[in-house]
Amino acid sequence: KKAKATGNRYLFFAHKMTERVAERLSLEGRLRQALERNEFVLYYQPKINLVNGALTGGEALIRWNDPQTGLVPPGLFIPVLEETGLIFDVGRWAMHKAIEDYLRWLNAGLASVRIAVNVSPLQLRSRSFVEEVRQALSVDPRAAAGLELEITESLVMEDVAHNIAILQAVRDMGVTIAVDDFGTGFSSLSYLSKLPMDTLKIDRMFVNDMTATPQGEALVSTIVNMAHSFQHKVVAEGVETEAQRQILRRLGCDEMQGFLVSRPLPGDTFASSFLLAPSGH
Ligand code: C2E
Ligand code: MG
Ligand code: MG
Ligand code: MG
Repeated sequence: KKAKATGNRYLFFAHKMTERVAERLSLEGRLRQALERNEFVLYYQPKINLVNGALTGGEALIRWNDPQTGLVPPGLFIPVLEETGLIFDVGRWAMHKAIEDYLRWLNAGLASVRIAVNVSPLQLRSRSFVEEVRQALSVDPRAAAGLELEITESLVMEDVAHNIAILQAVRDMGVTIAVDDFGTGFSSLSYLSKLPMDTLKIDRMFVNDMTATPQGEALVSTIVNMAHSFQHKVVAEGVETEAQRQILRRLGCDEMQGFLVSRPLPGDTFASSFLLAPSGH
């Protein structure tokens, strides 16, 4: 009797597992189709100068416009793209699309600010990465001045010598490099001083903790000073309140990005709200 119960339970779990595998397979299939059917979209979130409020750039953030469920945030599908290798094609698409949008806005006479594109660890590790960036930029001599690549901190520290070479090659083309989610990885200070990079983005978690405890503020202050001593620009991510903005400004942080300024917006809305006006948001 006991054996039978166990058997049933086993069958139950086996069934559940099959269901999950099927779910995952269908998601993979749908993501595969999504690229062909042009269902991925880039949203743009503005970055502004903390002192004068001028627009300094925008970050391209991918969404999947799934006909079955609507707009899907990247946290739900980037891991699947990475597990299946689809991230190479989708990552390349995002870079091309951001450059295309940038050039269209430029040609329309809108403000010229760099657009940041997130790069997956897997893309950076691929042999063809530098060549792919070169190809994406080859559409227009003005493209390089419009592109920034965001690399997450944890990844950049994995194979330092290799990454330094890749980042330097990309930078030599005129593209800037931002280290994303800073503070969530385990960077050693000596590596950070050697990395060919322009901007350090303080992770949202630290901005959030900043107002909670005095130590939180001290931590952000330390990061800002360290980044400046290496001549890096500092951007605070996930700024949601006026109180956070004031502290960041006092600590000498250069730029901010977050819901306080704007949520990520569809390209047209981003362009008309932030690239049309002279500045001063
Ligand atoms: P990230 O690069 O650190 O992007 C910032 C995330 O914080 C975005 O989430 C943005 O919508 C969100 N955010 C911005 N301001 C605030 C705020 O004030 N409060 C809060 N709570 N959140 C804020 P999103 O768009 O869901 O993207 C999540 C992550 O997905 C990104 O984190 C990035 O790592 C990844 N991602 C997005 N687009 C791409 C892409 O094209 N390629 C790759 N490989 N990864 C991408
Ligand atoms: Mg980012
Ligand atoms: Mg970030
Ligand atoms: Mg982050």
